[in-house]
Amino acid sequence: MPIYEYKCNKCGEDFEKLVFGKQTVQCPKCNSADIKKKMSTFGMSGVEKPFAGTSSGCSTCSKGTCTSCR
Ligand SMILES: [Zn+2]
Repeated sequence: MPIYEYKCNKCGEDFEKLVFGKQTVQCPKCNSADIKKKMSTFGMSGVEKPFAGTSSGCSTCSKGTCTSCR
């Protein structure tokens, strides 16, 4: 079940959406189609797991946990 994370380029809203095929995704807040896809997530376990030795994250991961950029 593909769940993608998006960020709206217009209002900056972060949201997740199930996407099937070539379904058009729009921002739920301002209905803009000018959005950016982030990484896909499968399951929510460990999303908020803190990373050992990481204090305040890095510039490449939105959640600041550095679990996706290593
Ligand atoms: Zn928006």
